[in-house]
Amino acid sequence: MKRASLVWLVLLLSISLLGSGTAIGRAQPPDGQGTPEPFPFSDRYPAEVVLEVPGDTATLVRLDIIVDQVRPLDETHLFPRPGSRFEPLVATVYINSGESQRLGQAGLVARPIPNESLRALRQYGPGTDQPSGWPTFDQWVARMQAIATAHPTLVRMVSIGQSVQGRQLWALKITDNPDVEEDEPEFRYISTMHGNEPVGAELTLRLADLLTDNYGTDPALTALVDGTEIWLWPIYNPDGYTAGSRWNAHGVDLNRDFPDRVTDPVDDPAGREPETQAFMNFEYAHSVTMGANYHTGALVVNYPWDSVPQPPDYAPDDALYYLFSVGYASRNPQIWNGGFPNGVSRGWEWYIIRGGLQDWAYYWHNEHHVTIEVSSQQPPPYSQMDTYWNNNRDAMLWWMGQALTGVRGLVTDSATGAPLDGTVDVLEVSKPLRTDPAVGDYHRMLLPGTYAVRCSADGYLDQTWTVQVADGPATVRNCAMVSESQPTMHVGGIKIRYQAKGAGKYVVSGSVRIFNESHQLLPGAAVSAQWNLPDGSHQNQQALTNANGLAAFRVKTTQIGAFQVCVTDVTKSGYVYDPAQNHETCHSLIVP
Ligand SMILES: [Zn+2]
Repeated sequence: MKRASLVWLVLLLSISLLGSGTAIGRAQPPDGQGTPEPFPFSDRYPAEVVLEVPGDTATLVRLDIIVDQVRPLDETHLFPRPGSRFEPLVATVYINSGESQRLGQAGLVARPIPNESLRALRQYGPGTDQPSGWPTFDQWVARMQAIATAHPTLVRMVSIGQSVQGRQLWALKITDNPDVEEDEPEFRYISTMHGNEPVGAELTLRLADLLTDNYGTDPALTALVDGTEIWLWPIYNPDGYTAGSRWNAHGVDLNRDFPDRVTDPVDDPAGREPETQAFMNFEYAHSVTMGANYHTGALVVNYPWDSVPQPPDYAPDDALYYLFSVGYASRNPQIWNGGFPNGVSRGWEWYIIRGGLQDWAYYWHNEHHVTIEVSSQQPPPYSQMDTYWNNNRDAMLWWMGQALTGVRGLVTDSATGAPLDGTVDVLEVSKPLRTDPAVGDYHRMLLPGTYAVRCSADGYLDQTWTVQVADGPATVRNCAMVSESQPTMHVGGIKIRYQAKGAGKYVVSGSVRIFNESHQLLPGAAVSAQWNLPDGSHQNQQALTNANGLAAFRVKTTQIGAFQVCVTDVTKSGYVYDPAQNHETCHSLIVP
């Protein structure tokens, strides 16, 4: 957006207000239409629409218009929050002549605007060979290859498929032991789904350099590489990038091509663009904990939902998304001062989009994913990349580190230790996630607090644990799952009594009953118990259950006060001890 055209719009609106004599008049059609300037691969061109009433925003959604950005008409204002008084907005849209007509029929004037992005890319885009010019796709690939070659123990360069025009969809995988599946959260940064928005490509490759060049010398960066599996996609849409186009070579907006939870709610790659299919198939084979994708055109961290049936509609992780997004924005001075309150917005609060990557990754795959708009210029000259890197570097590292917070653990078979394809649900959030079946690991980001975490797996008994989450590294909660087919046993009840045995002498007795899963008393089980005595000392004892499933423990003592007996373990050949079924594990009695 350039100031000249904004001034023009303000003038237009003022004239319209004077003419109509009402508080808010409809914008009149401009006398001189701009000339449509479509990108390669598509007949859609950039245009601006003034949204004077809330219904105008709904019209854009109803007509399925591709919106790239919405901002207040008065550029001195912050973007309005829902619930605050509506003020006129300007939407930058990409439309063809048919969509322009449909907008007109709905009473909205779409004025073609200069395609600044196309002009900039012709001036200093890939292949222009200018001092401030952007690298070619082949130069990006060579740079990725050089990083992989220089760091063979940390980096793999992987193609997940091919674009429409046959270019490889390259990613860099960075982690210690890159050929081994480990108990680590997977993290990713993606850029340039829109081929004319390459700033994030440079950011992700500078991040790759930073992580690999300082591995082994910088403790924090080394910990990130050791503790996470990092995936970087600098150029998601190589055909668009090469042609200087927003679109892929079929003229499709790749950030509108995913299944949509509202309008296209089947998670199926069939019939989608090759770039989308490759990306979806990658996600099916991985368990990605956290990610972000980089765009340009505005300055904001945009978080789910982008697509809602009816505003307002809040994601289960809304509070976490907000704080994490503010965490990124507050570390990036450009975004912090970019015109949004605290530098962030829920997607639908800004403008609704259907078929975006962010909602798909979160809704179906529990990847905590946001869309980060890092530049109002699309694109700035390549010579400005030092500025963008300096503004994003700390935020990028901070955001990655969040993947290591919350609660994590392994879900395994208690008898064999084998990893399980299980589900972990934090009941307070209710957004269940799958374990990575290769290792059985799960990674669930949470804000500090107390949560009920339920582990389940087909053929195994559910387990629910209370977990405390603090600031900092994730709390570990492993789930050793007990097979439904394996007989289980549990503690059914504990009793304590005492007898006086002459002057100041007592015998304190505890009895423990052990049951099988059908609640029948179980003889022959070895019960381990611990006495906690009034003076703070402990005594450990073992006893076998008798024919009535009863194990007895006793201490002779001269102490008085609180006695407690706790079952610490139960073993019996052919049975698994299942603490989740216990009625109690400790019992207390005061000897007066
Ligand atoms: Zn974009």
